[in-house]
Amino acid sequence: MQALVLEPDRQLNLRDIQIEESLGPYDVKIAIHTVGVCGSDVHYVQHGRIGRFVVTEPLVLGHEASGTVIEVGREVKHLKVGDRVCMEPGIPDPNSKATQLGMYNLDPAVRFWATPPIHGVLRPTVIHPASFTFKLSDNISFGEGALVEPLAIGMWAATKAAIRPGDLAVVLGAGTIGTVTALAALAGGCSRIVITDMIQPKLDLVASLGPITPVNAGGQDPVQVVFELTGGWGADIVFEATGATPVYEHLFDLLSPGGRVVLIGMPAGPVPYDVVAAQAKEANVTHIFRYAHMYPRALALMGSGKIDLKVLITDTFDFRDSLHALEFASKMPPTSVKVQIVLPQ
Ligand SMILES: [Zn+2]
Repeated sequence: MQALVLEPDRQLNLRDIQIEESLGPYDVKIAIHTVGVCGSDVHYVQHGRIGRFVVTEPLVLGHEASGTVIEVGREVKHLKVGDRVCMEPGIPDPNSKATQLGMYNLDPAVRFWATPPIHGVLRPTVIHPASFTFKLSDNISFGEGALVEPLAIGMWAATKAAIRPGDLAVVLGAGTIGTVTALAALAGGCSRIVITDMIQPKLDLVASLGPITPVNAGGQDPVQVVFELTGGWGADIVFEATGATPVYEHLFDLLSPGGRVVLIGMPAGPVPYDVVAAQAKEANVTHIFRYAHMYPRALALMGSGKIDLKVLITDTFDFRDSLHALEFASKMPPTSVKVQIVLPQ
């Protein structure tokens, strides 16, 4: 089938590729409709690897996807042909210890789309476990369905933050992940979000989405803004969504005593971590890796209208222009948030 393939020499090709898949009793076959381009796709194109995951064989890109069910395995009960769906891209081993303990995102054997050697879904069809395939309600478009994947990360961060009603949270970084984290934290009970970035158009967009105070860290001091809003107390929660090393130097200055920190961004290497500053506030610091059990909740919030992601879909390309889409995503203008590719139906 035709697919967007990243070759081991980092060439990108829209070409034919043989993918061996067969429909098991608990699987569905899906005609892919929309695929979001993620920072990780761009990173693989630019560097040929992310950490220990190296592209040594041709790899189909894309993991943020929605589509239509075109075939169902004989034991599948909750989906039928014609259902509009989105798919969770990581398939754990159902018998692993991590899965049995409910932490399937931490299963070392997880097979995650577009992470070598597992092919992604920038291709016409995929066969996927029905239990990781979720029906879209009529008011959720295919484009929004493909945004459930990044939203799940924000939802997981908000869940790990153990939000209490009325909390004030800081989100560092107003990219896709920072933005969906802010929306998930508001839906989870935060009264206000202070969000920081250096790119003003990104701040302007996210500030329009709710009680969100934008801070341009290029000129304004986020600590001062947070202290003004909290009577000098600090933020109940800090979400780190930049992965930028310098952010760590002042991470705990933003936090209230007894506050929670959730580290989402993935720095390129070790970062300066001020243990004493964290101790002085008894900071609760937690990390997230992808997400678990978040798709139904994300879809529920989108379906009820509490979270609306339409405005984040800024650039849409046809499948035949996939190379151009990846090129665009690697040099995104500051007014763009999410690039998506739509396949012919
Ligand atoms: Zn992604």
